[in-house]
Amino acid sequence: MTQSLRQLIAGNWKMHGTTAFASDLAGSLADKASAAGNNGVDMLLCPPSPLIAAVRGAIGESGIALGGQDCHAAEQGAHTGDISATMLADAGCSYVIVGHSERRADHAEDDAVVKAKAAAAQASNLVPVICIGETLAEREAGRAVEVVTGQLRGSVPEGASASNIVIAYEPVWAIGTGRVPTLADIAEVHDAVRAALADIAGDAEKVRILYGGSVKPENAAEILAVGNVNGALVGGASLKADDFWGIAEAAA
Ligand code: PEP
Repeated sequence: MTQSLRQLIAGNWKMHGTTAFASDLAGSLADKASAAGNNGVDMLLCPPSPLIAAVRGAIGESGIALGGQDCHAAEQGAHTGDISATMLADAGCSYVIVGHSERRADHAEDDAVVKAKAAAAQASNLVPVICIGETLAEREAGRAVEVVTGQLRGSVPEGASASNIVIAYEPVWAIGTGRVPTLADIAEVHDAVRAALADIAGDAEKVRILYGGSVKPENAAEILAVGNVNGALVGGASLKADDFWGIAEAAA
């Protein structure tokens, strides 16, 4: 069990916000983070691409990190509508989410695609937050651990280590639904991911494994206290400064 790692609280804004909203939300979080000083928690904001510049301006020197929500596997080229990891790095990002279940479902991204994107992120000195998670049907069939560790093996690039990957376990059925697995179920999957990482990543015991899926200020403390949970990937609750800050405080 690895709980001594510095927790990472990451906000996935998905396709929400305007420039004014982004400046306001990120500015308010930056004020809180600056006032709190080094409270032992890492915070990351992943806004939609057009809002990255506004968020970068608003977070200033607060210590909050910036990330993208996806990147293409290629560095450049004829890929209309896509953005590369190099572009994200140039825009001030240090992380990028890859393999979110909404990308896997909406854009038919399989493990091989996710792995190529994660490798591209690493090549641009970004840390990929590699998302994995079972569907409700897979959980009900008793296949959650098998599915999640299979996605892990297929999605993590060679040469991965604690310094160049973050894993996010996000049960698909818990995302945006208000449903959360039992703490025992979260522990079972996180323990299995930790064990599987030993074969595929260096410093496996230091790789941060986030939980994602309906994390709120009300349930954050108990989830973040589960063994091998090293932070949270937060969707809906990352769109309100008080809620996201409340989750970060629960991690401190
Ligand atoms: C997500 O989209 O990564 C997520 C966890 O969403 P929510 O917190 O809203 O369930």
